[in-house]
Amino acid sequence: MDLGIKDRVAIVAASSKGLGKATALGLAKEGVKLTICARDRETLFKTADNIISETSVEVLPVVCDVSKTENINNVVKETINKYNKVDILINNAGGPPTGNFLDFSLEDWQKAIELNLFSTITFSNEVIPYMKENNWGRIVNITSYAVKQPVDGLMLSNTVRAGIIGLAKTLSNEFGPYNILVNNICPGRIFTDRITFLANDRAQKLGKSFDEVITDMGSDVPVGRIGKPEELANLAVFLSSERASYITGTTILVDGGLAKGLM
Ligand code: NAD
Repeated sequence: MDLGIKDRVAIVAASSKGLGKATALGLAKEGVKLTICARDRETLFKTADNIISETSVEVLPVVCDVSKTENINNVVKETINKYNKVDILINNAGGPPTGNFLDFSLEDWQKAIELNLFSTITFSNEVIPYMKENNWGRIVNITSYAVKQPVDGLMLSNTVRAGIIGLAKTLSNEFGPYNILVNNICPGRIFTDRITFLANDRAQKLGKSFDEVITDMGSDVPVGRIGKPEELANLAVFLSSERASYITGTTILVDGGLAKGLM
């Protein structure tokens, strides 16, 4: 299938590693020009070089902490300076710390909101006017299966990510008439540094080895394993494409069947 997005321009947030990087690479393989961003300059520029050598597309790496509004403003400004438009926005960030309600201070809550919710609001706020001008846009938010089924010990993630779903559905209503489509993807357990971090955390709490925890994490997934980043990226790229032209306001799991609810 030709996804029809060659020469479109995408900003992929938090994309030096993991799901963001896999999505950036997937878009580049479709001929999409990229801005990628993350905090660590060395890893970010290495990722840009990897994507360029694999796909020959243009990649603009911009150092950015997505929890800082002025950094996001700069990413969008540099993107417009280079490409003169933004067609696709992939909202993504690192995950907040693990823990239960009494483990967190109000400052922890503030940080989680800035990292996972406010970054999505800020990026969307910055790019939608450009998308509206061109009557074409795709916004894909990478959230978590926690928005379908709260995950034990992930109080911050369970709470903050739910706000993104309300934001996305409301944006999809408001900007559907401008052909700006907004959707959410919910990873279950996908093998990235985030899973390594969560597995180490769980191993320590349960007194198990890392390998035991990884096996456990795959065993209650109906398909019997942890997913690969490109399995999530495939959906992100499709939802970013011309072919997804009648899909908006949805929240789709990529979890091998892990979440147990009906919807
Ligand atoms: P990851 O830790 O492998 O990668 C996160 C990326 O975000 C890295 O490039 C990192 O440099 C960047 N990053 C982190 N904080 C940032 C910040 N403040 N500013 C800019 N860049 C920042 O994580 P991942 O597995 O790719 O997860 C991406 C998102 O999906 C996270 O929010 C995570 O919690 C969520 N998620 C992941 C899984 C999974 O199984 N991997 C499951 C559910 C939810």
